[in-house]
Amino acid sequence: MTAIAFPLHTPIEGFEVIDGELAIGGQRLTRLAARVGSTPFFAYSRALIEQRATHLRGQLPPGVHLHYAIKANPMPAVVHLLAGLTDGLDVASGREMRVALDTGVAPDRVSFAGPGKSQAEIDQAVAAGITLILESERQLEQALQAGRRLGIEPRLALRVNPSFELKGSGMKMGGGPKPFGIDEARVPALAARIESEGLALVGFHLYSGSQNLSAPALIEAQRLSVELGLALAAPLRRGIRWLNIGGGFGVPYFPGDKALDTAPVLEALAPLAEKTTRAGDAHLVIELGRYLVASAGVYVARVIDRKESQGQVFLVTDGGLHHHLAASGNFGQVIRKNYPVTIGNRIGQAEVSVQSVVGPLCTPLDLLADRMLMPTAERDDLVVVFQSGAYGPTASPSGFLSHPESIEVLV
Ligand SMILES: *Cc1c(COP(=O)(O)O)cnc(C)c1O
Repeated sequence: MTAIAFPLHTPIEGFEVIDGELAIGGQRLTRLAARVGSTPFFAYSRALIEQRATHLRGQLPPGVHLHYAIKANPMPAVVHLLAGLTDGLDVASGREMRVALDTGVAPDRVSFAGPGKSQAEIDQAVAAGITLILESERQLEQALQAGRRLGIEPRLALRVNPSFELKGSGMKMGGGPKPFGIDEARVPALAARIESEGLALVGFHLYSGSQNLSAPALIEAQRLSVELGLALAAPLRRGIRWLNIGGGFGVPYFPGDKALDTAPVLEALAPLAEKTTRAGDAHLVIELGRYLVASAGVYVARVIDRKESQGQVFLVTDGGLHHHLAASGNFGQVIRKNYPVTIGNRIGQAEVSVQSVVGPLCTPLDLLADRMLMPTAERDDLVVVFQSGAYGPTASPSGFLSHPESIEVLV
């Protein structure tokens, strides 16, 4: 198994190359494309997802559970695979909840966060017996009403908007004025209200941000989150069962990004988990989406034309931003940078040149690679975008310009 090298990006590890072709799940790309039947498609490697989750879980100290946040990749086959490799699933909509429950995972291992839960979703969650992570006073009252109406004790947790920020995060989701969670100062009143209803609070949830590649920043956020969570739990008569401190582990996408070293981050959890067990007889939860699936997936598109304009080469493909908004640079990026992109059926080819890869949409935003050095390609070749296992089709505007939807396979 050789790493696939790039001039500027971190090498891609884990995939096999057979006769100059990328292989996924042991299948050469051209054969996989034939078996899928059409391009473009996303292919996720079962083996690589398993390796990631198993490796990470092996490094977790006792008293720390690993959850999968399924919005990163809600393909049912992927969620089913990860249900068996993690301690729980985190969902963010009624539909994600159904996908999670279809895996057969016990409802008390599923939790539901989100700032805009509808009454119907709250009812569904209470009826299912999953844990509702409440993000406002209104959600609490609706959950209590749903419990009374259905004759079920709702399982309730509170999402806290902490006063600290996660440094170095791609997307900040805590600290300062935020639509997520309940401001730290208002949490004790809500926790007391839950106990006054005769219910035990399941736990506190803190989620400070996403796509972080800095181990020191993550360690600091974990420490602050546990400190705050335990302080909030201290006055409760019935304590809590868990403290979910989020995750935010990132993956290297762009030139210069270095893979996150998870070892120190997970080691730093050991004393925090001990403290949480001692103080509150509770366990810690980390919830990861992207980190578990991003590197296991590729997006594959076929070159349908090769054009030159004023000295620049454009490979026009059948895939683009309507399937893979993030790779086009339009999903939260401030400055557009290239994902690791290559020609999947010409890996290691001596002849290389600078080419741009574009999609079929009539917009300059539909750009998958901007002037990258890669194997010189022709019509019918297969462009591969790596690091594509998370926030792909479900995070893209598939209806824009009315092209066919992408296909997903788990191999
Ligand atoms: C999006 C989200 C996650 C997953 O984030 P990743 O960056 O994919 O790991 C986890 N928890 C919550 C609450 C989220 O909103």
